[in-house]
Amino acid sequence: MSSILIIYTGGTIGMMENPETGALENFDLAHLRRHVPELGRFQYDIDFTAFDPPIDSSDMEPKYWVKLARMIADCYDRYDGFVVLHGTDTMAFTASALSFMLENLGKPVIITGSQLPILKLRTDGKENLLTSIEIAADKDEAGRPIVTEVCIFFENRLMRGNRTTKINAEGFNAFRSHNYPALAKAGIHIRYEHNLLYRPPRGALFKPHFLMDNHVIVLTIFPGLREEYVHAVARMPGLKGVVLKTYGSGNAPQKPWLIDILRRLNAAGVVLVNITQCSQGTVEMHRYGTGLQLLQAGVINGYDSTLEGTVTKLMFLLGHGLPADEVKRRMSRSLAGEITV
Ligand code: ASP
Repeated sequence: MSSILIIYTGGTIGMMENPETGALENFDLAHLRRHVPELGRFQYDIDFTAFDPPIDSSDMEPKYWVKLARMIADCYDRYDGFVVLHGTDTMAFTASALSFMLENLGKPVIITGSQLPILKLRTDGKENLLTSIEIAADKDEAGRPIVTEVCIFFENRLMRGNRTTKINAEGFNAFRSHNYPALAKAGIHIRYEHNLLYRPPRGALFKPHFLMDNHVIVLTIFPGLREEYVHAVARMPGLKGVVLKTYGSGNAPQKPWLIDILRRLNAAGVVLVNITQCSQGTVEMHRYGTGLQLLQAGVINGYDSTLEGTVTKLMFLLGHGLPADEVKRRMSRSLAGEITV
């Protein structure tokens, strides 16, 4: 019998309307069990634990990723799989962060939530929760877990966590993995794409990490971006990493002041990573002069990474106190299937 731990962090799935303000607020985990009697019908051992108090995922912080990683690591041997209930707003950040923090994960960690609270009649939460539990418990004929990575399950799709992005503030199909196919689709059967699933290196032991450094910032390029604004960013105390969200295949305006600032940041040991504002596709800085100038200024390629994947990977690598050159080297390698190099 599979044993599953459900970790409730907060989010719409477990919220209900405050009768006075009409705003959605978190409710107690005990309600979750009461409102999903189907949980009792699984032939699995299911345990629950929760953040106390639960948080709206807009309040998510690296310290909570550490808390989650610890909760999973502390009882890693006791369970066959983990289901994390999480608000949708920052779910893709948490999934990405955990994918790096839980190195050589040998069990499923399935993150899910919902767009409508589980108490609502038309909720998408039950479907998401029940299928996530099934995926977390699924094993092959040899009794090995089918999924050995951090995933997001949402509206019939299982996606690699560090490849997903929230794309819809309203519809039930809230997440997409634009640059990597879905790992499974849930219909009458759950159909896994076995050849797409991430496998830790053979014989590698599970190794949790608990250090993140958030001295990073995202700088989105747009027509009319002012020099003094970029200067202000560059002067931020303690800055260690900049994620540049550029145009198309990694292009930025050809302003000498911009290249000069980037060159100086790079020389000062700040890691500069280029990702595209497009939801699909990859960065190729040598394609146009507008990208090449960035490469020459020391900006490194973020390939087809999501914003969530890049920010959390930078925090993870910087958190381990690696020198800038080593951070750059590792940013250009896939650590948990987050980029296609
Ligand atoms: N604000 C909520 C959260 O992210 C939204 C949701 O759960 O869908 O916690």
